[in-house]
Amino acid sequence: MSVTTQVSDQAVVGGPALPQERRLVTALPGPRSVELAARQRAAVPGGVSTTMPVFAAAAGGGVVVDVDGNSLIDLGSGIAVTTVGNSAPLVAQAVGDQAAAFTHTCFMITPYEGYVEVAERLNALTPGDHDKRTALFNSGAEAVENAVKIARSYTGRTAVVAFDHAYHGRTNLTMALTAKNQPYKSGFGPFASEVYRVPTSYPFRDGLSGPEAARRAIDQIEKQVGVENLAAVIIEPIQGEGGFIVPAEGFLPAIVDWARENGVVFVADEVQSGIARTGTWYASEHEGIVPDLVTTAKGVAGGLPLSAVTGRAEIMDAAHAGGLGGTYGGNPVACAAALATLDTIVADGLLERATAVGEQLTARLGALAERDARVGEVRGRGAMIAVELVDPATGEPDAALAKAVAGAAHAEGVIVLTCGTYGNVLRLLPPLSIADELLAEGLDVLERALGATR
Ligand SMILES: *Cc1c(COP(=O)(O)O)cnc(C)c1O
Repeated sequence: MSVTTQVSDQAVVGGPALPQERRLVTALPGPRSVELAARQRAAVPGGVSTTMPVFAAAAGGGVVVDVDGNSLIDLGSGIAVTTVGNSAPLVAQAVGDQAAAFTHTCFMITPYEGYVEVAERLNALTPGDHDKRTALFNSGAEAVENAVKIARSYTGRTAVVAFDHAYHGRTNLTMALTAKNQPYKSGFGPFASEVYRVPTSYPFRDGLSGPEAARRAIDQIEKQVGVENLAAVIIEPIQGEGGFIVPAEGFLPAIVDWARENGVVFVADEVQSGIARTGTWYASEHEGIVPDLVTTAKGVAGGLPLSAVTGRAEIMDAAHAGGLGGTYGGNPVACAAALATLDTIVADGLLERATAVGEQLTARLGALAERDARVGEVRGRGAMIAVELVDPATGEPDAALAKAVAGAAHAEGVIVLTCGTYGNVLRLLPPLSIADELLAEGLDVLERALGATR
């Protein structure tokens, strides 16, 4: 027996042509979503959980339309992935064309131009004008794993340093690099060895200047790890899952300089912050840093799975032939989607758009912070903005409030995500295809949700 959804027997057209409105025709979740959720519970393990039990039927612009016909405002982009919008026209066209031509040969067997072209484009777009190479993979975690392999191969050293509040993925090595126990690591060990964690820069909570925070981290690395053992330091220029933490000015440049002086490979994990999200191609640009290796994923292919490691030619070329790759890495359909995504960013002026969205978000949320002492900080860059919620009396993180506010916004048809080591951060990552009015309406709902929650 199967449950028929409203749309199962007709072609669903998403993309920017969808009516750009918040429209609730049922309570959320609606009856079709409830039926599908029951099937999910019977077929999919509980470990794969969902933020909202609302099943998608179509999406585009700034909305997700569910199987009951509700139209939700999307402030999450499927975790910073649909930066160019869902089913963006150039992406949908390129995917269809490539799928009709060929879907897979394996780049390691018979290569194809799309892969090479994505590599050329990322070599040009990542910070620095040195000679670069790019290898393609499927997920952010896989890119991070390969960055570590490459750094070890180049340096002949084994240790890797990651930072407090870091998130790098869910595979064994990337769980080891990730800071937070629940839900990412608990019960899944033992983890990969030779991973060391040091303090980061979290200005709202540590009050340190960038250089002071860098000195603290470097001291700990030198004393506890030893540069002679250290292959790489890996850091998100703006931490994502950790709470959209923007390090104090000067922190990243100091770590980069120190790494370079000591023959340590500096890896910028730009899986979440890269590809126009913060108003630049890469968040590293805001501080003028040039990483040795950069990981890219989420926003790069308009929703198709693709990731990359881009870096200095001499580092990237250190691994032996056959040492890097994977069956699906740089799949031709995903590469076609990536090229169309990069074209869309340029054609639609999405770097500027990310900056404008950021201004709209920070103006509204900044005003909210003035009125409501529970808003401890509004931070981020471009269209990657977060609100850290606290107990006004103590400054302690208020995770229950973040959860309640997100839940209330969900019930009103706004998709908003939480994050943060303490779970007390609301994060806003709207697709850059969202219209100003719709974004404003989403913020209205969020503001009302906060006002109504005590
Ligand atoms: C999401 C994320 C990853 C992991 O990417 P997956 O595609 O989920 O494996 C790694 N690093 C950062 C910074 C991320 O935000």
